[in-house]
Amino acid sequence: MKTLSILGSTGSIGTQALKVVRGLNRDGRAPMNVGVLAAHHNVELLEAQAREFRPKAVAVFDAKAAGDLRVRLRDMDVRVLEGMVGLCEAAAWEGVDITLNSVVGMVGLRPTLAAIRAKKTVALANKETLVAGGALVMRSAKENGVDILPVDSEHSAIFQCLQGNNRKELRRILLTASGGPFFGRTREELEGVTPEQAMAHPNWSMGAKVTIDSATMMNKGLEVMEASWLFDVPPEQIQVVVHRESIVHSMVEYADRSVIAQMGVPDMCIPIQYALTYPRRLPSPVEELDLFKIRSLHFYPPDLDAFPCLDIAIRALKRGGLAPAAVNGANEEAVGAFLRRKIPFMRIPELCARAMERQPDRPADSVEAVLEADMAAREFVKESIV
Ligand code: MG
Repeated sequence: MKTLSILGSTGSIGTQALKVVRGLNRDGRAPMNVGVLAAHHNVELLEAQAREFRPKAVAVFDAKAAGDLRVRLRDMDVRVLEGMVGLCEAAAWEGVDITLNSVVGMVGLRPTLAAIRAKKTVALANKETLVAGGALVMRSAKENGVDILPVDSEHSAIFQCLQGNNRKELRRILLTASGGPFFGRTREELEGVTPEQAMAHPNWSMGAKVTIDSATMMNKGLEVMEASWLFDVPPEQIQVVVHRESIVHSMVEYADRSVIAQMGVPDMCIPIQYALTYPRRLPSPVEELDLFKIRSLHFYPPDLDAFPCLDIAIRALKRGGLAPAAVNGANEEAVGAFLRRKIPFMRIPELCARAMERQPDRPADSVEAVLEADMAAREFVKESIV
């Protein structure tokens, strides 16, 4: 039986991962033990999860919430860890085979590295880990002989399309994007959009940060970076394709121009389960793909004028070094400010571009360097919006 540590268990990916675990345990073919659960601050849900899955340890990022959880779980034999140290302990917990990192944002970088050093298989849903720390993470994974299995639906699709083929014969990655709620709008039409409008994603139900990133298409930019690191493919070989129905989750083109696509209903339980049971495929709680209901699939080139975030992210990837960390940090801060109604929608790309320009050319060769670039970009955004 495999033992799992879930970082971000109360979030969108975390709760769906636990749904997958319930299914696997009910099915009995790949029973899975939940060894550790970690969350940011939602102690109410974390307590319920701990009572259901009986982990050896739980970690809470917020120290005050950790105190509250200790009181709530005093009748249980469970360690309550806290802060970044606790999150890293949760990632590297003795006896855990797979660490699912589904925390949101740069806070996921250190736990990913801790899991790799402890030689855990990493199921990665925290894309910021690779965006900002790709060089560090991939090098450490190689040194420790650790697999990084993608959970992001597009990257899972690419990973699935690569199975059984020769990596050297890959010609292009076709990374699909839903286009988000503002597909087809012009730059001018996007000036006044509200957080509520941006939160109304047509196909996927996700957390707030990634939903706003989908609306600006920064999410796709971050995913280009993620794909480039995960599959060791330069940005020139990654083509973003807007695909409105979110049925084709991405494609891979080989030297002979054969294109392989992975399809399915837009439900994160599929990529989550594949990462947890890889290389096996087992029954899942997901509904069947009904092609007769869908009937047609549509594909469009991305509009870089209305969605400059995509272009900014690709430019940051091409520039390399700490430029991606700066863009990512600025974006996290700007998205937060947009959600709090402090800045209009189109200031998100503007602040990201300026943060990238201000970032000096330096290699992303240590966690400290990456976190420093992240911090500097965040400070810049905070100062710019007061
Ligand atoms: Mg995705």
